Order: sequence, then structure tokens, then C-alpha cells
Amino acid sequence: MSLRVAFDMDGTVADMYAVLRRVSDALFAPPGGSGAAVGAAESPGETSAIPGPSVDELHLTAAQQRRLWEHVKGIEDFWTTLPEASPGIIARLADTARRRRWEVLFITTRPPSAGDTTQAQTQRWLEAHGFRLPSVFVVPRSRGKLADALQLDAVVDDRPENCLDVAMDSKATPVLVWPSTSGAAPAAARHLGVRTVGSISEALAFLERLDDERRQPAVVRRIRRLLRRESRD
Ligand SMILES: [Mg+2]
Repeated sequence: MSLRVAFDMDGTVADMYAVLRRVSDALFAPPGGSGAAVGAAESPGETSAIPGPSVDELHLTAAQQRRLWEHVKGIEDFWTTLPEASPGIIARLADTARRRRWEVLFITTRPPSAGDTTQAQTQRWLEAHGFRLPSVFVVPRSRGKLADALQLDAVVDDRPENCLDVAMDSKATPVLVWPSTSGAAPAAARHLGVRTVGSISEALAFLERLDDERRQPAVVRRIRRLLRRESRD
């Protein structure tokens, strides 16, 4: 049976943060000053209303994050403008999936921007980088139930909370892309069987091993069947 695997987009296969950092610098840097310090202090509860994927890396206040996403909303086809998380990774992923007959789904919580729908922009971006006919699904934050409903074997994501969600709500193996520069992966992730890898390339290597392991028992079963038949003859 072919491996069914889902990949998150931002921070996993696409480098959203590099682009958003430039946008946020332009939006929030006071003349002659440095960036994010201009926002007022806010209560932590307000973060729930932020429309886009988490951008903790940018160290913005909730109000600034909302302004950032409001700004992105006005940029024509913003989701087609990002660089890959690692150059050539989409073509490599497409090649591996084709060779190994994987079924691949891309999942994202991207908010809309001007131009095409988020789904169509994401599909165009994946095609432009070498993945033909990509399946893209724009989902609210919970990914575990999706992984369960679609009977996925693995989900690759850069967010520990998404991986925990997958670990708790589905039988899929969550693969956390967590660069060593980010420090140790959260302990909860280790305890719940989340596989932590240092890069998207390592995630791909892990999936190939997982695929090999899944294929092995079938081969062994077939050999045993053949041996039994021979012993009867
Ligand atoms: Mg992500």
C-alpha cells in the first residue's frame, strides 16, 4: 500500500518567515529605529483572534500580527511569492513521491490574500517548483482529525502543537521539522512519539525509511507463501 503523507506549507516546505520579516520591518520599523518595539503591551488572550499561521519568530505583538496579516491580504497573489524552505525541495519531494507511489497532500492555515484563492495560489506555487497536480487543503488549526479521517500515515509540520494534535487524534506518525538552532524539541513532543528531524530533507529521508519498513513485511509474507507452496509440492 502506498504511503499517504501530508506536508504543512509554511516553515516546512516554504520559507514564509523570510518574506514576512521584510514586510514587518517595512511596516513597523520607526524611522531610524529598530522594528518590533513600537507595539503596545496587550493581554495574552488577544492572540486568539490572529487570522494567519503562527509567526512567533517575528516577535510581534498581537496587534502588529493582525496588521501584518491585514497588509498581506492586500498583496496580489502573496502566496506565490515565497522561496522554498530549502532550494529544490519541492522537485525532490515530487520525484520521491512519483518514484515510490506516495499519495501526497499539502495542508495549510494560510489566510487569503488578493488575487486567486489561497488554495489556487498554493497549487500554482507548488507546480512552479516542480510538483505536478498538487492536492492542497486549507484547514483550520486542528490537523489531527483531518489526519485521522484521511487515514494518513505521516504528517510533516514545523509546529510542535500541530504534531501533538496529530499524535493525539490520529494513527499518523507526526514528523516535526525542528532545526537544531531552535534548541531542544519540546518534551511533550518526545513523549508522544513525535519524530523530530532537523530539516525538511531529513524528513524526506525519514519517510523513505518508514516506507521501506512498511514494504518489508509484505515481501516477507510473500516469500513465506512461496516456501510453503514448495514444501507441499
Ligand atoms: Mg507551518
